[in-house]
Amino acid sequence: MIEARRISKFFSIVNKEGIAEGLTACLSVTLSIEKGKIITLLGPSGCGKSTFLEILAGLQAPSEGEVFIDGVRVLEPLPSTRAEMDAYRKRYRFLSPLANDLFRDRPKHDIAMIFQDYAVFPWMTVLQNVTFTLKLRGLRRAEREKQALFYLNKVGLGASLHKYPSQLSGGMRQRLAFARALSVEPKAILMDEPFAAVDLLTRERLQDDLLKLLDSSGITIVIVTHDVAEAAYLSDEIIIFSPSPGTIRNRFTIDVPRPRRRDHPELADIQERISRLLKYDIDNESEYSI
Ligand code: ADP
Ligand code: MG
Repeated sequence: MIEARRISKFFSIVNKEGIAEGLTACLSVTLSIEKGKIITLLGPSGCGKSTFLEILAGLQAPSEGEVFIDGVRVLEPLPSTRAEMDAYRKRYRFLSPLANDLFRDRPKHDIAMIFQDYAVFPWMTVLQNVTFTLKLRGLRRAEREKQALFYLNKVGLGASLHKYPSQLSGGMRQRLAFARALSVEPKAILMDEPFAAVDLLTRERLQDDLLKLLDSSGITIVIVTHDVAEAAYLSDEIIIFSPSPGTIRNRFTIDVPRPRRRDHPELADIQERISRLLKYDIDNESEYSI
């Protein structure tokens, strides 16, 4: 169970005149996601989807609000007094407030993240990409290799273990990213536009691969996408973000059982409603900015 409570994120940016301005990337987003569900976040570009996802992952700290995973807070509050700071340092053995900050933003939870196209290390082979990740997670050498092979075979990359990512197709690279994410046996996988960089046919194949790989694994999935058809096909629930600052504007629950037909009338209906909504938001936003 992932729970975001009143998450806001404020950035300070310098505008064209060189003056500092505040920017609200997301505003008071409250969301609970049940274990094993597939949720998509949909909204116009710049509405704070990536920022929100990184906050869920613990890669960024929210300005306000808290994220809990199975009741455990994703980021601990930084100590505010000298004594608390000393105790904190002793506990984590960090060297300096700077190091403290660096380590603070590392996810402490069983979460894996998949990005659009730079999710794999180009200088490592397929096998090394997965074993390295497992090394970071503290697995012993023998276990690393065994687990890596298991998940690489599962995603169909068993014959490409010693290739480099540059020798793989876009679809295979993304399956490598799946293998890496699955190999750490996470509670949740958060994906930021995971299929945006591949052609439509590959994208649909990858969507089906993902559903097959997840098959009753109980892993919770949060996907950011701007592809309405993809959202309808994959999701148990679609969360629509409003244009900046991102807040939850609408939610659509999809009860169509899986495996789904892509041309299922209920999915078509939802797509139609969502497309109209997004178009309305974009039209109204441009009125403001003209
Ligand atoms: P989305 O993923 O929905 O396209 P983002 O979460 O990437 O949106 O960004 C939301 C808003 O926050 C954008 O206006 C973006 O320019 C701004 N933003 C994101 N990260 C930073 C940052 N580190 N510093 C300043 N502004 C940022
Ligand atoms: Mg984004």
